[in-house]
Amino acid sequence: MYRAEYIWIDGTEDPYPGLRSKTKVLEDGKEPGIWGYDGSSTNQAPGENSDVVLKPQFVCPDPIRGGNDILVMCDTYVPETMEPLPTNTRVAAVKAAEAYGDAQDMWFGLEQEYTLMTEQGWPAGFPDGAFPGPQGPYYCGVGTGRVAFRDLVEEHTTACMQAGLKISGTNAEVMPGQWEFQIGPAGTVEVGDHLWIARYLLDLLSEKYGVIASIAAKPMKGDWNGAGMHTNFSTKAMREGWDPMIAAAEAMGAPGKPEEHLAGYGLGKEDRLTGAHETAHWSEFRYGTSDRGASIRIPWQCAVDKMGYLEDRRPMANADPYTVAALITNTVGAALA
Ligand code: ADP
Ligand code: MN
Ligand code: MN
Ligand code: MN
Repeated sequence: MYRAEYIWIDGTEDPYPGLRSKTKVLEDGKEPGIWGYDGSSTNQAPGENSDVVLKPQFVCPDPIRGGNDILVMCDTYVPETMEPLPTNTRVAAVKAAEAYGDAQDMWFGLEQEYTLMTEQGWPAGFPDGAFPGPQGPYYCGVGTGRVAFRDLVEEHTTACMQAGLKISGTNAEVMPGQWEFQIGPAGTVEVGDHLWIARYLLDLLSEKYGVIASIAAKPMKGDWNGAGMHTNFSTKAMREGWDPMIAAAEAMGAPGKPEEHLAGYGLGKEDRLTGAHETAHWSEFRYGTSDRGASIRIPWQCAVDKMGYLEDRRPMANADPYTVAALITNTVGAALA
C-alpha cells in the first residue's frame, strides 16, 4: 500500500488563500482517482450542498514520507456541473498555455519570499517581543545573529529537490527570519504546480519548528521589508532578441493592463507597493534597465546581451502563481503573436 496526499487551494479570504490536504491510502498499482471533501469547512460551499470534487492534476514523489508515497495537486469542481470553483485558478493557466504559452515556449521564474512568524504573530527572527538591529546585515546573511531557522530552509530545499520540483535557489532576505526560494524556469502551468507544492512542503516542515511561513505582503508595519513574488518571464523570441523584449514590456504597460494585472497579483499592494521599498508605487507603471524601483526590471545582463527575460516586481508574496502566469502569458502572448 502507499499514501497519496491530495492538496488543493482553499477559500480563505483573510489573510490570503492557502492550502488544505488529506491522505488517501491506496493499494499498490492503484491510481489516485477522483475524490472529494466538505467545502463548507473551507469557505468553498454552502452547508446544505457542501461536496467539492477533487481531481488529481499534478503528481510528484512525497519527499517527507518517502517510499512510494506521492503528493497530488488537485483541481476543485462543483459536483453537479463539474464547473471549476473560483479558487480553481489552474484552469485559467491551462487556457493561457493552450492559447499562447506552449506555442511561444514561455518560461517563468518565481522568487517566493516568506517571513517566519511565531504563533503569536511576532517575526520569529526577532528577539522575543523586542526588535533586532536595523536591516542591513541580514540579506544573504551568514552567522549567528544574522539568520534564523536555516535548518528549516535547508530541509525545505532538500525536500523540493527530492520531489523533483524545479527549485533553482534560495537566499536569506532583508528582514531577520525572512527567506526566499526560486522556482523555475518552468512553463505557464508547471510553474504554478511546482510553486504550490513547494509552499505545501514549507508549511508542512514549519510545523516541526513551531513557526508559520507567512506570505503576507507586509508582515511587519514600519521600516521592515515587505515580501513579494518577483515574476521573471520570457518567450523564445525574447530569449533571442531585443524587439520582443521591448514589445513585451510595452504590452504590460498598455492602457488597462497594470490595473488588470494588479487585481491578480495578491493582497496587500497598498502596504507593500508604496514606492518606498524597491518597487514603483502600485498606481504607477514603468520599466527600466537594472531599475529595482521599476514595476518591470530589465536585468542588466539582458540589456547588455540585448535579449533574455523581464522581471515583474509587483506580485505580492501571497499571489497565486497560476493567476500571475495566466495574466502574463495572455498579455505578452497576444502582443508577440
Ligand atoms: P534576483 O536577481 O531578482 O534576486 P533570482 O536569481 O532570485 O533573481 O531569480 C531569478 C529567477 O529567474 C530564477 O528562478 C531563474 O530560474 C529565472 N530565470 C532565469 N532566466 C529566465 C528566463 N529566460 N525566463 C524566465 N525565468 C528565468
Ligand atoms: Mn531573488
Ligand atoms: Mn528577494
Ligand atoms: Mn528579483
